[in-house]
Amino acid sequence: MSVVAYWNGSFVEPEEGRLPIDERGHQFGDGVYEVVRVYGGKPFLLDMHLNRLDDSLRLIGIENPHTHDEWTRLIYDAIRESRESEALVYWQVTRGIAPRAHLFPSVAPSVSLTVRPFSPNESTSMTLLALPDERWANVFVKSLNLLPNVLAKEAAKRAGANEALLVRDGRVTEGSSSNAWFVRGAQIITAPANRFILNGISRRFTLELTQKLGLSVTERALSWDEISTVDEVFMTGTTIEIIPVSEIMMSTNTQKALYHLPDFPTGDLMDVGDNMKTVWTARTSNRIARELHKAFLDEVERFRHQAKSVVGR
Ligand code: PMP
Repeated sequence: MSVVAYWNGSFVEPEEGRLPIDERGHQFGDGVYEVVRVYGGKPFLLDMHLNRLDDSLRLIGIENPHTHDEWTRLIYDAIRESRESEALVYWQVTRGIAPRAHLFPSVAPSVSLTVRPFSPNESTSMTLLALPDERWANVFVKSLNLLPNVLAKEAAKRAGANEALLVRDGRVTEGSSSNAWFVRGAQIITAPANRFILNGISRRFTLELTQKLGLSVTERALSWDEISTVDEVFMTGTTIEIIPVSEIMMSTNTQKALYHLPDFPTGDLMDVGDNMKTVWTARTSNRIARELHKAFLDEVERFRHQAKSVVGR
């Protein structure tokens, strides 16, 4: 098992890679990132990730320091260096290094990257805690600023759930690090790719799979009031692929905040109190999620055999 780290032009020892104190990524979270899954020694859906990186950088006015060919070479080199065939590549681009001041400096962007071995979680379903979506209104940018997501995931864990289900003004947006899908009858519903969700690469790929399988999808935000009417819920993401939800919980303390954020939050921001209730449980055998996940895994299998692994054996 080896972890590979890269910082501004060279591979470095993961524990020894030191950031300059004035790196804007760690001072302001002033940057964007991507995470790609490596199956069989090759990065899956890399072009889609590189296109999303272009979009994120353009939206916050950072010039992309690399062409797609350069990114591809760097990512393949890093995977080769790691010798890991099942891994995650994480990389970020920040506005660079300059004495701390809010205005954009005229400096080159910074690039850092890691490759880590990854073994998927073996669970076959997950549970969710509904929480108010307290993030800024541009979450379609894959920004480094993940404090609200981090707090929501921690609140979910403390309440005994695996993931948060975020609700903004009475409408379901997404998870803290995943996209949310609902099935009612034969209809699949997922939030539209507007400013209020991060348009996951797995979300886009799942939409392609629904087309191939002839499944019907509506891209609209599910109203929280409709939650009790859905038959199936599942989540998508690079690390979780497609996973069914077995239960959604909510604390009665945060119920109102799902519709309207209160002026004054009470307690610390991870504490939802213990007036927990179950608002939804799966009432089908997750037929759609299972069908889609099978199609997803078939595509991964095809990908594994398509081209040679870059990891030598
Ligand atoms: N939404 C959020 C908020 C996320 O952080 C992620 C994972 N980065 C996703 C959705 C899923 O995106 P992807 O399918 O690209 O992993």
